[in-house]
Amino acid sequence: MQVAIAARAIEMYKSYGEGDAVVHALRNVSVDVPSGRFTAIMGPSGSGKSTLMHCLAGLDTPTAGTVMVGDTDLGRCNDSARTRLRRRELGFVFQSFNLLPALTARANIVLPLTLDRRRPDPAWFDELVDVLGLSGRLDHMPGELSGGQQQRVAIARAMLGRPRLILADEPTGNLDSTSGAQVLSLLRDSSRRDGQTIVMVTHDPVAAAYCDQVLVMADGQLVDRIVSPTAESVLASMVRLGPAAAPVTGGLR
Ligand code: ADP
Repeated sequence: MQVAIAARAIEMYKSYGEGDAVVHALRNVSVDVPSGRFTAIMGPSGSGKSTLMHCLAGLDTPTAGTVMVGDTDLGRCNDSARTRLRRRELGFVFQSFNLLPALTARANIVLPLTLDRRRPDPAWFDELVDVLGLSGRLDHMPGELSGGQQQRVAIARAMLGRPRLILADEPTGNLDSTSGAQVLSLLRDSSRRDGQTIVMVTHDPVAAAYCDQVLVMADGQLVDRIVSPTAESVLASMVRLGPAAAPVTGGLR
């Protein structure tokens, strides 16, 4: 059976700067993000992973090529349509969390829904808060939370509205291995149980093994795709790319 496509990049290029200083961050990337699946993006630092995520989310504009989210061509949207689409259809977990410092954890989690005049599903809110270990932290300000707690607030915020597509840039980067495993199980379960589509950047082969597929980037291009990955098959792909790509502190625990 053909899998539906949640998002798609077609012959996408992204360059930064000009002349001698130009950096080609993405060079002819075409990728389908299958609906209801959990996809990892891996590759060496500087290979274009974050740029690809930002372009798929409409947070950055490709220099050339097309980005589709569902049936919508982001290049044909004006700013307000793009903002609305981001709010309704996308959840983003940033490396830097991007929580609003003057709002409590609870207010941060519900903010995208509040802005869209939607009400959170209380049972789903409680489940997320429980699984993410945030129950005692909801009335705290981000500045009163550890990095790992802030990261978990950002994950709850992205997941609460059950968007068409969740894009997460190293969502377990600040977590210890126990809470990292809990977050990865939550992401995997929400894709298997609820058909949530998720794309995650990670450097950790163990984290990538939670996914249905791994897309490997190098030097602005997609160079490998691993279906039903294991930590070993992912590590082998990283090693094939060379020492710069292999994880320094291998996640094979
Ligand atoms: P990754 O996420 O794989 O580490 P990035 O997508 O962040 O890679 O970066 C890809 C390349 O684009 C790198 O060479 C980086 O320095 C460059 N780059 C990313 N963002 C910018 C920017 N805003 N201005 C200039 N260069 C950038």
